Amino acid sequence: MPEGHSVHRIARQFARNFVGRRVHLSSPQGRFAAGAAQLDGHVMTDARAVGKQMFLEFDHGLWLRVHLGMYGAWDFAGDILMDATIASANGRMGQTNQRGTDVDSTVLDAAVLDSTGENSMHSIGAPRRTRVRMAEQEKEIDQLDTFPPEPVGQVRVRLLTDTVSADLRGPTACEVLDPAQVQAVIDKAGPDPQLDDSTAAEDRFTAVVRRKPTPIGLLLMDQSVVSGIGNVYRAELLFRARVNPYAPGKSLPEDTVRGLWRDWAHLLKIGVETGQMMTMDDLDGDEWRLAMKNRADRHWVYKREGLPCRVCGTHITLAEMGARKLYYCPRCQA
Ligand SMILES: [Zn+2]
Repeated sequence: MPEGHSVHRIARQFARNFVGRRVHLSSPQGRFAAGAAQLDGHVMTDARAVGKQMFLEFDHGLWLRVHLGMYGAWDFAGDILMDATIASANGRMGQTNQRGTDVDSTVLDAAVLDSTGENSMHSIGAPRRTRVRMAEQEKEIDQLDTFPPEPVGQVRVRLLTDTVSADLRGPTACEVLDPAQVQAVIDKAGPDPQLDDSTAAEDRFTAVVRRKPTPIGLLLMDQSVVSGIGNVYRAELLFRARVNPYAPGKSLPEDTVRGLWRDWAHLLKIGVETGQMMTMDDLDGDEWRLAMKNRADRHWVYKREGLPCRVCGTHITLAEMGARKLYYCPRCQA
């Protein structure tokens, strides 16, 4: 499932390619025909992510809310402008001017590519007629011969401008909301440090966690407690803090809980910037490149069951919590 950093990156793609543009909406699959008709032909005025949900605003005040869930994905196609802030995998950027009137964009001159294609998006110059899939991972699918492309599979909604299309498949939520409904959804969501890194947000998270008897491993995944954390970040945040996933929230010292919030803010920022859930700090140049290439080299415990802990050598444990796989070191996180 896409974690918070992915959804923020998708929202930035919409901000860069759709906001300020008149957008045609349709439902090639038919299931969202009525909703698409409510938004069709309007100018997109805002794109934002709150945790794992994305909200797109149109100029008549209505919003499109999308939650990708486990299987949802967006395919962007056409002359896609890459947001500079999401094409910065290794910080080595080359300036390139494009389209004259557009803002300068940046492309990588030496991208670090993940061996499984998790960030091959970084190889794309901007703009370029291509097709890019954004979900939990991002990858360039193919080059386009014609625009707009034929819809592939069960496309719930297509957003189309003169130059770019975005096709949504397999979401758990895709609906039109009015501003009051959007506010109600946002009010129910836990704080998201990409939207609000204030002390008040940290206080809110800390207070909620410290009054619950629920295991911290479940609280971190509860989107009403904190927004955007999924299975990878849960495991890694708890290891980094040396916290037992089964510890009740209310048993944790205040400093520990505040530390979890600050570390989430730190890791989320890196995730939004690089597109990868890099959870190791202080890697030198070669280690860093290796870790960006291979997931196995950038996590402490996630998917490392049975392997020796990088700190103490104890075998990493795999358990189930909240119907999701949980990875932890039984010694470091005792
Ligand atoms: Zn250990």
